[in-house]
Amino acid sequence: MNELIETLTTIVGKNHVLTGMDLDDYEQDWRRRARGKALCVVRPGSTQEVALVVNACAVVGASIVPQGGNTGLVGGSIPNSSGTQVVMSLRRMTTVRSIDPENMTITVEAGCVLQSVQEVVDSHGFLFPLSLGAEGSCTIGGNLASNAGGTQVLRYGNARDLCLGVEVVTPQGDVWDGLSGLRKDNTGYDLRDLFVGSEGTLGVITAATMKLYPKPAAQLTAWAALASLEDANRLLGLARRHLGSCLTGFEVMNRFALHLVDKHFPHLRVPMWREHAWCVLIEISDNESEAHARGLFEGLLEIAFERGLVADAIIAESLKQMHDLWHIRESITLAQTAEGFNVKHDISVPISLIPEFVRETDTALATAFPSLRFVNFGHMGDGNLHYNIQVPEGCDAKEFVQTNEERISTIVYDTVSKYRGSISAEHGVGELKLDKLVHYKSNVALNLMRAIKSAFDPRNTLNPGRVLKSNR
Ligand SMILES: Cc1cc2nc3c(=O)[nH]c(=O)nc-3n(C[C@H](O)[C@H](O)[C@H](O)COP(=O)(O)OP(=O)(O)OC[C@H]3O[C@@H](n4cnc5c(N)ncnc54)[C@H](O)[C@@H]3O)c2cc1C
Repeated sequence: MNELIETLTTIVGKNHVLTGMDLDDYEQDWRRRARGKALCVVRPGSTQEVALVVNACAVVGASIVPQGGNTGLVGGSIPNSSGTQVVMSLRRMTTVRSIDPENMTITVEAGCVLQSVQEVVDSHGFLFPLSLGAEGSCTIGGNLASNAGGTQVLRYGNARDLCLGVEVVTPQGDVWDGLSGLRKDNTGYDLRDLFVGSEGTLGVITAATMKLYPKPAAQLTAWAALASLEDANRLLGLARRHLGSCLTGFEVMNRFALHLVDKHFPHLRVPMWREHAWCVLIEISDNESEAHARGLFEGLLEIAFERGLVADAIIAESLKQMHDLWHIRESITLAQTAEGFNVKHDISVPISLIPEFVRETDTALATAFPSLRFVNFGHMGDGNLHYNIQVPEGCDAKEFVQTNEERISTIVYDTVSKYRGSISAEHGVGELKLDKLVHYKSNVALNLMRAIKSAFDPRNTLNPGRVLKSNR
């Protein structure tokens, strides 16, 4: 293995092969629930260097864990505990290769941080609509590898929908230039779509061509309080009809989720949470003007009040207030962490069935564990809930999670499965959901996935034991 480190040093330079030092940033996952041990961290600066590194590892049988911002939530971006895996950090690859205003595309390297891409695109008068809580740290490569969703999927789709092409280094160290930027290309199997969402198991994404959109003339946010999820569903339907394609976000939050934000970040001044069971955050993007957007919102809320769907509501008065409202929504995850140990489920079910699903799952869990606290929030417009559980107050939280997590998750996922939902709506499988995938996915689907993995990566060089089990 020393020889491999020497070879890698020759390829990327000694400053970019990290060994024997504090590698916490690379070996520990964002949630601090998993930690591995790497042989080394290698930080290539170009596609060519990525290819040479992959080839060098493949030749000696070392496996590679591709890593971007390391913000993934399923333990797929850190090494296992063997001390033999090479973590390949793409964070040095941050070049914006080109912007094509007429084709409305941007081509960026994989290590570009999402927020920096949004900013560059904005400075050219366009919108890059992928947006999520980790956008200040996560990378385009990681977004694509995990097919990230976020807050505007309702209007623009997830990372896959925004991607027109990828450049990939294969597990053999070959470079596939698929940066076509084409919107139509029916020349056989869609390789791009196989790499997107493959969580670093089929290839290393080194660059991508992403779709741009016209920057809306105005974005406006409203916060509304409701009595039930049924009302939230009706309001979503009404918003779709009333706002059409202007509707870009529809987030739901239960009272306890907002209580946690209020408790741990009181300066954020969470509105309306005390008196109402649910709040929703609605965002519209308008191509005419702020006044037009405001008119649309006022019209929507007027009908919603008349029909008794909404108990209280505000429309953000300024950009700052709009950001403040989003900040509250995005602080729920951090508030949960501040509260202590919890059990998380990133699930999706058909939108129409969300109220029924939540009622049934809440009841089943409350029967099995009477004092559980439910943190329920998410991208309702996409049928995607973060159905999370905070342990009962006053108990030994760590022990409670260790003893009961499996049973809690089984209740949640069995109900998801009954409603023909997904046990991972946007976070992926990684290592965390390996066993669950085997349990909840059909054998036909699993066998096809295994066949794809062994066709692309027969030596299991890239991220072995993630997404699919391996004996490596
Ligand atoms: C606060 C917070 C909020 C979040 N909110 C959302 C959300 O709303 N929606 C959502 O979908 N996700 C969300 N996430 C999780 C989300 O998946 C990640 O934030 C992001 O997409 C991962 O990007 P990354 O660069 O950090 O990838 P990493 O965490 O480094 O890696 C993720 C996976 O991709 C692989 N990978 C990374 N880079 C490459 C590459 N260049 N080539 C091949 N494989 C690669 C890794 O091996 C790993 O399997 C959130 C995370 C946090 C911490």
